[in-house]
Amino acid sequence: MTDFVSIPVFDGHNDSLLMTYTPELPQRSLLVRSDAGHIDLPRAESGGMFGGLFAISVAHPDQQFPDPEDTGKTDEDTSWILVDPVSPNHAKAVTDRGIREFKSIIAASGGRMAMATTVEEILDARERGVLSAVLHFEGAEAIDENLDNLNDYYRQGLRSVGLVWSRENVFGHGVTFGFPGSPDTGPGLTDAGRRLVRQCNQLGIMLDLAHLNEKGFWDVERISSAPLVATHSCVHVLCPSPRNLTDKQLDAIAASNGVVGINFCVAFLREDGKNNTDTPLETMVAHFRYIADRIGVAHVAFGSDFDGASIPKVIGDVAGMPKLIDALQSDGFSRADLEKIAWGNWMRVLGQTLKS
Ligand SMILES: [Zn+2]
Repeated sequence: MTDFVSIPVFDGHNDSLLMTYTPELPQRSLLVRSDAGHIDLPRAESGGMFGGLFAISVAHPDQQFPDPEDTGKTDEDTSWILVDPVSPNHAKAVTDRGIREFKSIIAASGGRMAMATTVEEILDARERGVLSAVLHFEGAEAIDENLDNLNDYYRQGLRSVGLVWSRENVFGHGVTFGFPGSPDTGPGLTDAGRRLVRQCNQLGIMLDLAHLNEKGFWDVERISSAPLVATHSCVHVLCPSPRNLTDKQLDAIAASNGVVGINFCVAFLREDGKNNTDTPLETMVAHFRYIADRIGVAHVAFGSDFDGASIPKVIGDVAGMPKLIDALQSDGFSRADLEKIAWGNWMRVLGQTLKS
């Protein structure tokens, strides 16, 4: 290990809140060290993580969850994921419960964790050793089609929205999980989707394109005034999953001064698309290297998908982040490059997008 392991980390995507508001999943506190899952406050501190986007996502009422203990499975079957639409009422109820849990965790943290709504707040919290959580919706089903409740969610702290998860909603269409496949899986944004983009621009809410299909991506590219962001996606040339970004999409993200958070999900990293956690660090590093070489180191960052995906065993959990930073350093990234990848690029894009 080198000195570089001390580089602090801001992460573009986790699903750790799921464990606090989804009764079908084993519940655990994010404030107590655990061996289960990927993130809790003590392990975040061990891994150098000072902040990240914390997602609230809404499972379909009939969704089957995989066995969380079965992390070593090599099964590539993703048929357990139901891609049927969810009703707005169900989405609102789950989302509101998620926000309540999110706030109660922060209240119970004794000042060790805080909700952040600006870059200034994130960096100030970092100085004080406080973990910053930026509230993100993974899929916009809880937002009214006419955007009536968007201002209310903004007031509650919402600063990042994925227009869709991997399914259809009133705003657009998400990619599904078939492998191999193109992200061009259906129609673009609806009128409501285009209104949502403009309204998020106006309020200073970041738009996440990670699960959006390709036509929707290009609609956002045409409409949005903010940098383009995929919080947890990888490179399609290296792993032809519909969840990954084509070279043309990467070029557009660079042209907008945006960023890609590299997803640690093995099925989006591996050339064979398999859900095999025996995946070496080199396979992860290749995605960072590809983006840095093609569009520049200013446009690649971390988007782990911790607690939402099967990740390489070698990383294990958030406490394993220094191993990835060390592997990136061994691949030739400089200290200055790694400061950008690990947190600086996220601060730039959030700074250009959120309003103080
Ligand atoms: Zn996701």
